[in-house]
Amino acid sequence: MIAARHLCRATPRFQHSIRRYATEGSSPAGMSKTVKYGGGAVVTLLAAFGVVRYSVGLPPDGSEEARKGYETLTGKKLGYASDKPAKKTFTGGEQGWVDLKLESVEEINHNTKKFRFALPDKDDVSGLEIASALLTKYKGPEMEKPVIRPYTPTSDEDARGHIDFVIKRYPDGPMSEHLHSMEPPQRLDFKGPIPKYPWSPNKHDHICLIAGGTGITPMYQLCRAIFNNPSDKTKVTLVFGNISEEDILLKREFEDLENTYPQRFRAFYMLDKPAEKWMGGKGHIGVDLLKTVLPEPKVENIKIFVCGPPGLYKAISGMKKSPKDQGELSGILKELGYSQDQVYKF
Ligand SMILES: Cc1cc2nc3c(=O)[nH]c(=O)nc-3n(C[C@H](O)[C@H](O)[C@H](O)COP(=O)(O)OP(=O)(O)OC[C@H]3O[C@@H](n4cnc5c(N)ncnc54)[C@H](O)[C@@H]3O)c2cc1C
Repeated sequence: MIAARHLCRATPRFQHSIRRYATEGSSPAGMSKTVKYGGGAVVTLLAAFGVVRYSVGLPPDGSEEARKGYETLTGKKLGYASDKPAKKTFTGGEQGWVDLKLESVEEINHNTKKFRFALPDKDDVSGLEIASALLTKYKGPEMEKPVIRPYTPTSDEDARGHIDFVIKRYPDGPMSEHLHSMEPPQRLDFKGPIPKYPWSPNKHDHICLIAGGTGITPMYQLCRAIFNNPSDKTKVTLVFGNISEEDILLKREFEDLENTYPQRFRAFYMLDKPAEKWMGGKGHIGVDLLKTVLPEPKVENIKIFVCGPPGLYKAISGMKKSPKDQGELSGILKELGYSQDQVYKF
């Protein structure tokens, strides 16, 4: 079993997180911390937006949180006002650019914000499948050509009426600077979906996600596909490198997964500049850590996903040649004996 093997091989630095993984049971009735401690807030939300409307036969007013809170607390599935089949905003092909209105912005940390864009209708879904991304386009007044960049949504694929992105600002980065200067109800052009790695339940027995910084967003998409589907039994090992603890995006969501699925989800965090009290790994994601936490190359039906800044690709897997050409496998994964077809570079 993976847990036993890793317990034996773990370096002291990772024993803390491994011990938590191996001994923490699921919370009662599989409730995550968010549900347990956020119950009051959920009920308030429900009262404010959802349940009152539902009790008179109306949906929870387009609020995804209210709907999910209601479904989690009651175990009942809510319908939607119109009961229309969901219309997909993004259909690909000849569709071209679709401009979406920025609905809200939430500060996540010193350089990262969560952006919620409204889909054209409150009952619409994005139309994205896992794993895929969208392109954004922006042309500033002084720019000769528009800048185009891909982003991976963090909202659920079946979320109605909105799509969310978690985006880090890079100094002098034209798209991220523009996004971080945007305020509701400004609009931005999107196009897609850009398919990446099509996921189907139990496609692999065990997947390993090696991410740096905002490279976590496609990994989170995969985790949502797997853990939102009760028939998908895939095991997931996440190795996530960042500069400091406050840079670790979606940490609460991953902690919820660790608590809810201790036998199937494990996360290992590495920090370049950790605080004194930090119990996880220090430095870059390196050969010792990967040798310790990844399943061996001979294990059947595993897949390793890599996403992050150029330095991370170079060290771990080698760069992609182009969006359609994965390039040669090199770096630590090659050194450890993994084959080209066991690795996917986002
Ligand atoms: C499939 C895919 C999905 C992505 N999803 C997200 C997402 O969900 N959230 C998000 O914030 N970003 C995501 N990115 C990165 C995003 O597309 C842009 O590259 C990033 O926002 C920088 O764009 P920019 O125009 O602001 O700066 P650029 O001009 O592209 O870059 C500015 C500076 O930052 C450096 N840089 C660019 N990207 C990175 C990086 N990832 N790590 C370290 N240094 C970098 C460049 O080398 C340059 O020095 C994704 C990238 C890909 C390929």
